[in-house]
Amino acid sequence: MGFKEDQMVTVSLYARVSSGKQAQENTIASQVAALERQISVDGYELLREYKFIDNGYSGSNLVRPNLEKLRDRVAEGKIDKIYIHSPDRLSRKYAYQMILLEEFQKAGAEAVFLNYEINDNPESQLLLQMQGMIAEYERAKIMERSRRGKIYAANKGCVSVMGGAPYGYRYIDKCTGVGQALFEINEEEADVVRKVFLWVGRERASIGEVCRRLNTMSIITRTGKKCWDRSVIWGMLKNPAYKGQAAFGKTKVGVKLQHIRPQRHSCEQPKDNYSIYPVEKANWIYVKVPNIVNEDVFDIVQEQLAENRKIARTRERGAKYLLQGLIVCKCCRYAYYGSPVRNKRGEKVDHYAYYRCIGRDSYRFGGNKICDNKHIRTDALETAVWEEVKHLLKNPNRILEEYKRKLSEFKRSSWDKKKRFTRKTRK
Ligand SMILES: [Zn+2]
Repeated sequence: MGFKEDQMVTVSLYARVSSGKQAQENTIASQVAALERQISVDGYELLREYKFIDNGYSGSNLVRPNLEKLRDRVAEGKIDKIYIHSPDRLSRKYAYQMILLEEFQKAGAEAVFLNYEINDNPESQLLLQMQGMIAEYERAKIMERSRRGKIYAANKGCVSVMGGAPYGYRYIDKCTGVGQALFEINEEEADVVRKVFLWVGRERASIGEVCRRLNTMSIITRTGKKCWDRSVIWGMLKNPAYKGQAAFGKTKVGVKLQHIRPQRHSCEQPKDNYSIYPVEKANWIYVKVPNIVNEDVFDIVQEQLAENRKIARTRERGAKYLLQGLIVCKCCRYAYYGSPVRNKRGEKVDHYAYYRCIGRDSYRFGGNKICDNKHIRTDALETAVWEEVKHLLKNPNRILEEYKRKLSEFKRSSWDKKKRFTRKTRK
C-alpha cells in the first residue's frame, strides 16, 4: 500500500449519537472536536473522507451507514488508527463491541479510545467486557425507571409526560408555568379544531371534505404546511385531549417490524431498532387538560366516524391489486396503487385497471401533482412480473448465478478501488 511504504499513518475517527430529536448537535460536535484534538496532539493529519459520523443512530444495532463505510475501509486495509470516544460509541452491546474490535485488529487497524486504554492482556479484555455489560445494565435500568416514572406522573395528572401539546394547545413548561407544566389553549388553533368537529358532527362532512375546506381557507398546519392530510384530521377527531382528557400511553415500543421495502425518503438502514405499536384504549392513562370542544360534540363525532367506517366497509377495500404498494415510481419514489377504469358515466369498467403513481394525484398535494410518470395496465405489468417469476422458478440456478455475479462484482469493485487508490497515492 502506498501509505505504508511512505511510512505514513492513516487515521480516521468514528462518532455516534443516538437521538436526533434531542438537542444533540453539541454532543456530536464536542465528540468530534475532542477526537480531532487528540489526533493533532498525537501528530497525525485527519483527511475529511476518514471522518465517519452516525448522527441519530441507536447503538443497539450494528447497521449504521457510516459504521459500514468505516468497516469497508478497514477491511480494504486503508486505515491504521481509528479514534473513538469510548467503546459504547461503537455499540451499546458488549458482544458487538468485541466483534468490531476483533475485526479491526485482524485488519491491522488500531482502535484508540479517548477515555479507555485498550490492551491485549486478558485482564484488560475482561474489564472491557465487564464495562460493556454494566453499561447495558445501566441503560436498561434507566429506561425502566423512566417508563415507571412517567406512568406515575401521568397517574398524578402531570402533562409533562406528554411529548408536546397537540394542535390547538400551547405547551407551557414547568419554569414558565406555576411550578408544573400545562397545556394552554391557543385560541387561533382552537377555533380551527372547533370548526372541524362541527363540520363532521353537525354537517356530517367527510374527512376529505374537511381537508378541502381547510385548504381553501388557507389555514396552515402546525408544521407550516398549506395542505392538510387526511390522517392529521383523523388523528385530531380521535384525540380525547380536545374534550379535556389528554391520553398518555397510546403507543408502546416493540420488536422491529420487517418492511418489504424502505419507506420513501428514508435510508435503507433503519435508524431505530424498534417499531411503535398501538396500546388498547383500556390501558390509556388520562390527564386532565382544558377542553376545546364539548364532550357531547366529541361523542357525536365518534359515532359519525364509526358510521363512516361502516359505509366504507360495504365498499370493496383492501389489497385488490397484486402489486400495489410493492412497485415504486422511479421519478418520485412514491408507491403505485391499483385504480379501476371508469367510463364516461362513472361506471367501473370491469375487465381491466391501471397501476397509478401516488405522485400523480393532485388532490394529495394541495392541487398540484408532483409526478408525470405514466399509468401501467395491471394485466400487462402483472403478466410481465409473473413471467419473470416463472422463469426464475424453472431455473433456480439463475438465483445462484446472480448471487455469484453480485459477489464477484462486489469483490472486483473493491479490488479496483484498491488499485486506483494505490496508483493515486504512488504518484
Ligand atoms: Zn411518480
